[in-house]
Amino acid sequence: MDKFTNVATANRFLPRQVTNGFDKHDRKRLIGGMKTHYTLTLLLCLVVLAAAATVPAQSEQDHGDHVNSAAALAGTVADTAGQTSATIEETETDAVAEPPAMQQPGVTDFLFSGRYLAFLILAAVALTLLLGRWVNRWVRIGMLVVAFVLFGIEQFYPLHPSPMCGVTKLFMFRFTMGTWFPVFIALFLAMIIPSIIGRKLFCGWVCPLGAMQDLINKIPFKFKIKQFNFTVFNAVRMSLLAMFVLTFFWVKDHIALLADNTGADATGQMWLAFSNYNVYEPVNFFELLHWNIDTVFVVMFTVLAIASLVLYRPFCYSICPIGAITWLLEKIAPLRIRVDHDACTECMDCVAASPCPTIAKLIDVKTKVAPDCTSCGECMGVCEMDAIKFGIK
Ligand code: SF4
Ligand code: SF4
Repeated sequence: MDKFTNVATANRFLPRQVTNGFDKHDRKRLIGGMKTHYTLTLLLCLVVLAAAATVPAQSEQDHGDHVNSAAALAGTVADTAGQTSATIEETETDAVAEPPAMQQPGVTDFLFSGRYLAFLILAAVALTLLLGRWVNRWVRIGMLVVAFVLFGIEQFYPLHPSPMCGVTKLFMFRFTMGTWFPVFIALFLAMIIPSIIGRKLFCGWVCPLGAMQDLINKIPFKFKIKQFNFTVFNAVRMSLLAMFVLTFFWVKDHIALLADNTGADATGQMWLAFSNYNVYEPVNFFELLHWNIDTVFVVMFTVLAIASLVLYRPFCYSICPIGAITWLLEKIAPLRIRVDHDACTECMDCVAASPCPTIAKLIDVKTKVAPDCTSCGECMGVCEMDAIKFGIK
């Protein structure tokens, strides 16, 4: 059978009402047109993103200290402290010879730098594709490759501060050093703003580690497990997040008490050493994206690759603090995948075509807690009844 006579295939590209009454030649022509449209849209995205990718080079020249600050802040606390004191000493020594120091960059300086603008542009492109129903498997793979190449191989943008730092170091340094660092606030906002507008837009369409897991999951593999126990995975993820938060209140007090009893300085090396560590350090798979090939890399990459082959986004569902926070934000994001239960015939075509464990739960009216939906849109096009939509209602 000509694949274009297949109604499900046609509906993957066009709403059912449009294709009703068309013969196979009409469908073929229309689908050909839509494919050209998809390709042009994708090319346009690539051009826009490539243009955005040139911004940091300019920005680096104009604001060299922005990058230095980011790199310093993303390093260890000790490094940060060392660099800070070195900078202070340098500034003091050169006070007479050098012009006055430039003002430190603020949140908006970082937010409007090339990297974070590229985050927002990619999220906006994703939103457009979803609202226009212009998503299919190949558009999706193209966009995941763009996200991975832009943010995951350090060719265009440095990894650090990585998305993980946007949550961990933002709060760690607030509690340990008493400062909200603008670079981390900007990163946090660049991840959270899209996620508040559209369900998990950052995770689904921008995050390089999410893209890497998603791409690996697309490799055909006989032993895929789609319906895994989300409650268990989520319990681990939320427990890690809770432990991360509690350590700051509990351990800081504990160290202060110890320091008090022993006469030690709670702001000294002991406290700084602690502040450099958090519960996510041993399981921070973002470190893979430095591509330093050593034993730890090989072990972690193998674990993640095998897990991603079997499960959809295992790191996101079981560990990532951003995944945990954006899962909570899913409840308030107005733009999201919605199932019209009146139109749905429960044929399960969407479940078969989707990579996630989510759509099966969204279809079930009895579901109270659904796994994360990354708004990938792959379930939308396969529904012959047009029962799955991305929108406000
Ligand atoms: S959950 Fe974490 S690793 Fe997964 S896509 Fe979101 S930010 Fe990236
Ligand atoms: S429910 Fe649909 S949009 Fe959400 S992750 Fe699954 S396939 Fe993607």
